[in-house]
Amino acid sequence: MTGDPSQDFRCLGCGRGHPADGFPHLCPACGGLFTLRPEAISLPESWGPPGEGGLYRFRTALPLAADVPLATLGEGNTPLVTLKHDRWPVFCKLENLNPTGSYKDRGTVVLASALAHAGVRQVVEDSSGNAGASLAGYAARLGIAARVYVPAAASGPKRQQIAAYGAEVVAVPGPRSMAAEAVLGAVELGAVYASHVYQPHALGGYATIAYELVEQLGRGPGSVIAPVGHGSLLFGLSLGFEALKRHGRINRIPRLFGVQAAACAPVWAVHRGGAAALLLVAEGETVAEGIRVRSPLRGDQALAAVEGSRGAISVVEEEQIEAARRHLALAGVDVEPTSAVVWPALDELAESLEQPVVVVITGAGWKAPR
Ligand SMILES: [Zn+2]
Repeated sequence: MTGDPSQDFRCLGCGRGHPADGFPHLCPACGGLFTLRPEAISLPESWGPPGEGGLYRFRTALPLAADVPLATLGEGNTPLVTLKHDRWPVFCKLENLNPTGSYKDRGTVVLASALAHAGVRQVVEDSSGNAGASLAGYAARLGIAARVYVPAAASGPKRQQIAAYGAEVVAVPGPRSMAAEAVLGAVELGAVYASHVYQPHALGGYATIAYELVEQLGRGPGSVIAPVGHGSLLFGLSLGFEALKRHGRINRIPRLFGVQAAACAPVWAVHRGGAAALLLVAEGETVAEGIRVRSPLRGDQALAAVEGSRGAISVVEEEQIEAARRHLALAGVDVEPTSAVVWPALDELAESLEQPVVVVITGAGWKAPR
C-alpha cells in the first residue's frame, strides 16, 4: 500500500481518493461509496513471524501510512482446525478467537489506528453488535470516545460488551435499519462516522484472512464459505486472494461462497433473480442478527467477487441455523448463530465445492444467548 488515503482508496462514483482529513463516510464530491483499490495492495516477499503483535506482520499490506502506529490488541493469527463433515474434512478459520470475539477486529484495528492518527477523539458507529463491540474495544485502547447505536433487540451479551469497554450504547427500537438511520442523524450533526462498512479501511484488514489461509494450508483453498451481511468480509477476502494471485503466491482465486438467512437474503435474491428481485426482499426476523441487512452496502462488490470466482450465494432456514449451532458446539466449536449459517450451506453447495474447503467462523458463541 502507499499508505496515502488518496491513493489507496477511491470513490466508486467519481473515482476520487479519500480526503486526507475530515474522515467523511461518503465521497464529499459525489456522495459515492469509497472502496479499497485492489491494485493498491502490494505484498512483501515474506511476512514477519506470527505472534509479533496481531496484524503488525501484515503492516506493509495494510492501507495505513508507514508512520501510523497500529493499535493492535493481538488480532489475527487465528487457528485453522478441521472438522469432519459427511463427505470431507472442512477447515474452520476460527475468527471467533479474535480479541473482541469476531473477525471485525481485523478491520477495526486498521480503521481505529487511522482515526487516532488523524486526531479524531470522538466517533459514532451503528452495529448489530460485533462491529460495535470491536470498535468500542479499540477505541478504549486508543482513548477515543465511542457512541454505538444498536437495535434494541441486539443480543444482551453484545450490548454489555460494548458498554464494558466504556462506549455509550444507544438502543434503537425496530429493525437493524433503524439503528443505521439513527447514526446518520448524528453524522449530519457533525459526528465522525467510524463505520465498519462505509469506511474502506477495514477491507484491507479482512484481506489478511486470505494471507493466513494460504500460509496455513501451504496452498490456496479450493473454496471459501462465509456469512454475508453487508458483503465486506467476502469482498475483503477476494481482495486478499487477488493480491496473492497477482504476486504469484496462488494460481487461481478460490471459489467464494456467501450464505444468508432466508428471512433476509438480498444478495441471494439478486444472485438468483437480478436487481428486480430486491423488491421482494424482507428484513425478516432471524437469529443470525449479524447478517440481517436489508440493503447491503457492499452487496454488489461481494456478488461480483463471488460470481467472478465461479462461486454462489446460498440461503439457510432458521431451524437449520439453530441445529448447526448445536452441532458445531458438540464438535468443540462454539459459535454465534450468524456464524453457524455456513455449516448447513455445505450440503447445498456440495456439488460446487472444490477442496480444500474453508468456512469462516465469524463470531464467538458467548456473543448470543441460548
Ligand atoms: Zn465521488
